[in-house]
Amino acid sequence: MVYDVIVVGGGPSGLTAGVYARTRKLSTLILEAQAVGGQLDWLYPTKSVYDYPSYIAIEGGELGQLFTLHARESGAEVRAEEVVDIQRQPSGFKVGTRQGNAYEGRTVILAMGMGLFEPKRLGVPGEAELEGSGVASRVRDWREYKDKRVVVVGGGDSALEIALEIVAPAKKVLLVHRRGEFRAMEKNVEAVLASPVQVLFDSEVTSIEGRGKVERAVVYDNRTLKKKVLEVDAVIVNIGFEPKVTPLPKWGIALEGERLIKVRADMSTSVPGIYACGDIVSYPGKDKRIVTGCGEAVTAAMSVYKHLKQPYWA
Ligand code: NAP
Repeated sequence: MVYDVIVVGGGPSGLTAGVYARTRKLSTLILEAQAVGGQLDWLYPTKSVYDYPSYIAIEGGELGQLFTLHARESGAEVRAEEVVDIQRQPSGFKVGTRQGNAYEGRTVILAMGMGLFEPKRLGVPGEAELEGSGVASRVRDWREYKDKRVVVVGGGDSALEIALEIVAPAKKVLLVHRRGEFRAMEKNVEAVLASPVQVLFDSEVTSIEGRGKVERAVVYDNRTLKKKVLEVDAVIVNIGFEPKVTPLPKWGIALEGERLIKVRADMSTSVPGIYACGDIVSYPGKDKRIVTGCGEAVTAAMSVYKHLKQPYWA
């Protein structure tokens, strides 16, 4: 079978592209490497999302599942496979997966978000050894932190939102940030400062200690070099993400840097027949939000439709 469109990536953008491709009855295959639902489901299933319009608050996992359900109900085929190869051929493109399958598509929409990625590590003693025994980089379920004393490291939106997510069930949450100010959104900063989260600015975790599980975190004030030993049960390191190797350069698409795809206003890339949307695209004024990725996905799906069907009105 030759699909009208193969969507690479099953996060909000890829799934929205699927829903809109189906409104035009395009046969659609969505391939997702990590978790259908994307970062929402993989990274923060129990964290509330407050900026997806029409939901005042919804847990990431639930939102991811609703996106997935909507795409499946629309008639898109969704498969858990990692795309490793895209090649041109007479019918359009051959898309190869790590699982050994090859799918044919007349067009492709790339919606891989930030790609496969790994949480950044502090690289301090005890961090690797106690990973999974109190050291973590994401919160799968806030209930795991009930009555725990927790250090959260980082000053971006992810760290602040994690601190806010667990502050109610936890016994104590200390947010350790290496600067005197946060880089997170004002909304999150205000919420943290108004919450029981205790903030240690200008501070760095230099080691994590414990026998078989986290028992202490050693924190230095980087201005005074004063040392504090905190008795804690968990350390959540949330200092950003590092992408794993990206296959993009091999696919012959014009990129911005090594990992972002240059797109035109219609979400077309430099390769005719390949479109892109979501966190992986770059254009002036690009903002990485779920809702903007969804908007770009609609444009990409409609561009695919016009490319394939050339309707009289386009
Ligand atoms: P981020 O914005 O890159 O923040 C990473 C934080 O970790 C920074 O405060 C950084 O400190 C700190 N850091 C980095 N390396 C460190 C080290 N070795 N030791 C100590 N601290 C270190 O990452 P993020 O919070 O994961 O967010 C990524 C992107 O997603 C951002 O654009 C963010 O706005 C977005 N996001 C949006 C939402 C939302 O819209 N609700 C939610 C989550 C994330 P410095 O500040 O000193 O560099």
